[in-house]
Formats: sequence, structure tokens, C-alpha cells
Amino acid sequence: MSKGILIVMSGCSGVGKSTVLSNVMDRRADLRFSVSATTRPPRPGETDGQSYYFVSKQTFLDMIEKGEFLEYDAHMDHYYGTPRKQLEEKLETGSVILDIEPNGAFAVREAWPDAVLIFIAPPSMEELERRLRSRGDTSAEQIEKRLARAKWEMEQSASYDYVVINEQVEACADEILKIIAEKAD
Ligand code: 5GP
Repeated sequence: MSKGILIVMSGCSGVGKSTVLSNVMDRRADLRFSVSATTRPPRPGETDGQSYYFVSKQTFLDMIEKGEFLEYDAHMDHYYGTPRKQLEEKLETGSVILDIEPNGAFAVREAWPDAVLIFIAPPSMEELERRLRSRGDTSAEQIEKRLARAKWEMEQSASYDYVVINEQVEACADEILKIIAEKAD
């Protein structure tokens, strides 16, 4: 019997999901974070085993072969997957947050029908585009790719249990914490 619930969080690139997520996790120390495996290289500040397990494509393919993933998906030129074992172990000790995109979210819901799916949306697509362009570290081609992906993700948000708008980080985190308290406590 697992002690906690699964909370699946998705949100398009540029929506500020990581900031909201750290705010949520800081305010609820009992929540565990499901660490995904990915073939994308680490960004500055990311630690192996904390942000992600950074693995080679061959290792990722081997993990698929061995059935180690609860779900996995290829998007934005890389593979991402949720290792089943660490997730189940974390669930034994409390509720777990997964930061995964919609295909993964729906696969988790199939496996765990009680999972709570929360989508973080931008105030508008115009605002998302403005945020993506103001980052300055992304090529025009990458921005177009992310916008196209974001549009698709926004369409998927209709199938989530909750859609929370990130107008302001603290308020968005408040709303998410309220949902978690309702479902997990
Ligand atoms: P990033 O490369 O910016 O960290 O993440 C890109 C996208 O991959 C985000 O939408 C994130 O939620 C998603 N993602 C991260 N880990 C997983 C995973 O294990 N499975 C799936 N399906 N998506 C993931």
C-alpha cells in the first residue's frame, strides 16, 4: 500500500513551472520529487540525480528494453522517462510530484487512475511568447519549435484535472498547495 498520492504537473516551456514547483516543494517539505531520466545534456545549475538522471541514448534505450520506465516520451530532440522503481519507493513514504509533459501525464493516469493532473498555463499565449523571446538564450528556430509545442500542450490541458494560471508565482503555488491539501491530506 502506498502512503501518498501522485501529483502530475505539466506546463509549457517558458511558463515558469520550475520556479512554481520549487516554491511548492519549499513550502511542503513532505513532498518527494520524481527524478526523471533524460538524454538531454545538463543545463547550468542542474545536478545529476536531483534535477534528472542524465544518461546516454544507449543507456536510455537499455532502460526501455528492461522495462524500467513507468512511461517515457521523446520530445524536443531528447528522450525523457519516469523510472518506475524510484517512484514506487518514494510513494511508500509520501506524496510524489512528477514534472512531465502531457503524453507522460496521460500514461501515468492510465497506470494510476487516482493521480491528480495539474496543468500550469500562462496568462495568455502572447505573454508566453513574450517570456520565451525575452530569455535571450534561445535561437529563433528553437522559439518557434517551443511555441508550436506549447500550443499543442495547451490543447491537452483540457484533459487535466486542474488548470492553474501562473500570473504570479506565489499565488499560483498557493493554488497548487490548496489542491494538494484537498487530495492528499
Ligand atoms: P526540460 O528539458 O525543459 O527539463 O523538460 C522538457 C519537458 O520534458 C518538460 O515539459 C518536462 O515536463 C518534460 N519531462 C521531464 N521529465 C519527463 C519524463 O520523465 N517523462 C515525460 N514524458 N516528460 C518529461
